[in-house]
Amino acid sequence: MIFDIQHFCTYDGPGIRTVVFFKGCPLRCVWCCNPESQKATPELMFDGEKCIRCFKCICPKGALKHTDEVLLDRDICNVCGECQELCPTNALRVVGRLLSVDEVMKEVLEERVFYSENGGVTFSGGEPFMQSEFLLELSKLSKLEKLSVVVETSGYAKWEKIEKTLQYVDLIFFDIKSCDSERHFVLTGVRNELILENLKKIATECETVVRVPVVEGYNFKDESDVFKLAEICRNADVEKIDLLRYHRLGEKKYRMLGRKYDLEVGDTRFIHYMKKILEEEGFKVMIGGTNY
Ligand code: SF4
Ligand code: SF4
Repeated sequence: MIFDIQHFCTYDGPGIRTVVFFKGCPLRCVWCCNPESQKATPELMFDGEKCIRCFKCICPKGALKHTDEVLLDRDICNVCGECQELCPTNALRVVGRLLSVDEVMKEVLEERVFYSENGGVTFSGGEPFMQSEFLLELSKLSKLEKLSVVVETSGYAKWEKIEKTLQYVDLIFFDIKSCDSERHFVLTGVRNELILENLKKIATECETVVRVPVVEGYNFKDESDVFKLAEICRNADVEKIDLLRYHRLGEKKYRMLGRKYDLEVGDTRFIHYMKKILEEEGFKVMIGGTNY
């Protein structure tokens, strides 16, 4: 279950890459900028800005009503996708499609001429390890094709779902959302013990960069949180930390899914202070870095 495949990416690993976005995630981060990645099933997105009110969209189930605008009843909609075919502006769009391993690989290999030595494929999400057998096959085939393989993970998966794939992976981007387990639960819906345990195991087997979304006042409040992060990375023998700036680019997608986004983040300068502390602690630190 894939929600997007993007080509010519330069922010998700070395070189030029194709990024395959798996749909489905066990976490519900309050700042998530890809809310369409969370549910493991297809969803209907409605973009009111693209809608020209032609009212060509007819729903056989009666989930679409036309007043002076289009009203979608998500309790009735079964995401059959029929309305998407009728909409001339792509205002209605089903996100999430079932693809076979061969279909994904075909799309990845179409771009191989651009990958040169260090580029390749990145499996992102959502959480790729939620579809661990699919990820294993894709990683294995990508390695057979001599592509660089990167996996972006929340680290929240049983070890047996992770371990078998690592031999085919060159680099892991491992998210740490909060160093405090209670706060982690409040902000993401799960505690962080399993995640931190997996970080140590993964980092012994595969090159690992820790990625940290910095949402000031939420997951990082003061410098004691930064020292905790340094301790976690040191204990796992991780040297590189990539700090990710908070942004609101996903806000519109919540509306398109009929959901609310209520996070208010004031200051975003703390990230630079974090970088300084972590560098003094001996880490190589990037902010949204591309130099892996
Ligand atoms: S996806 Fe299908 S059920 Fe949902 S609104 Fe469109 S036509 Fe109706
Ligand atoms: S078909 Fe598309 S553009 Fe026309 S009213 Fe329906 S959603 Fe809007």
